[in-house]
Amino acid sequence: MSKVILVLIDGLGYEEAKAAAGYLEHLAEWELAAKYRVEGELPSLSRPMYETLLTGLPASEHGIATNLFTRPSRCENLFSLVKNTGLTGAAAAYHWISELYQRGVPREPRLERYQFDSPGLIRHGIFYAADNYPDLCLYNDADYLRRTYHPDFLLVHPSGCDYHGHLYGRGSREYRTAAAGSFDRLSALLSVWQEDGYDVVVTADHGMDELGVHAGNLPEQREVPLYILSKKVECGDFTDSMVSPLQTAPLCCALLGISPAAGMRPLTLRMKEN
Ligand SMILES: [Zn+2]
Repeated sequence: MSKVILVLIDGLGYEEAKAAAGYLEHLAEWELAAKYRVEGELPSLSRPMYETLLTGLPASEHGIATNLFTRPSRCENLFSLVKNTGLTGAAAAYHWISELYQRGVPREPRLERYQFDSPGLIRHGIFYAADNYPDLCLYNDADYLRRTYHPDFLLVHPSGCDYHGHLYGRGSREYRTAAAGSFDRLSALLSVWQEDGYDVVVTADHGMDELGVHAGNLPEQREVPLYILSKKVECGDFTDSMVSPLQTAPLCCALLGISPAAGMRPLTLRMKEN
């Protein structure tokens, strides 16, 4: 059993990661990390894809069809599996994550902001409501949770790429700079997290198009990266074929050493034999 940090970079398309994630690309090139190309599920919207990544289910099964559905998740998810196994979950994330997984917590950003020793599915959380919350602050929030509570599963969810992508579009200096800045902050933490015993998974919910829109079926809206830093996986560049984001939840279960939920698909990513 080991600990897992899942980094969900909001709005980061596959090509943008390739252009901005120099250190993770280096680790994959030197076969110190695994790199996959993910054909995102649809719709390429945040809230449905948060639920897809955390439950391993497509939108037609988990039912979160749009960003307008503010009800809590009704499905087994990584936070419920972690809690039910007696492990500790934590999140530094946009407040929609609190809305999805923290039953009993008032849906008001003021009250959702800090949640420590919470009765919800996420034991410890720091949630932001401003779309332009700086990635630097978010990574620092996440690392505070790691250092203070030593969670078994930690979701890290920066939104700087999505914010700048909406304002300026794919192909803009601002979007590219936001992605590079986010990866810069992340790269500074990777070795610290690994030395503390964490496997690290880095992916995104959706990409962005030139007009600053994501919702539909364009490759730039739905294709995202997946990097895995773990001794349990085969390392290298496996981007010659697409993989599904439905793999993210069972991957995290395998890394954590817990059983996946009944609806999760079989894991097809390249794992090392025990
Ligand atoms: Zn967005």
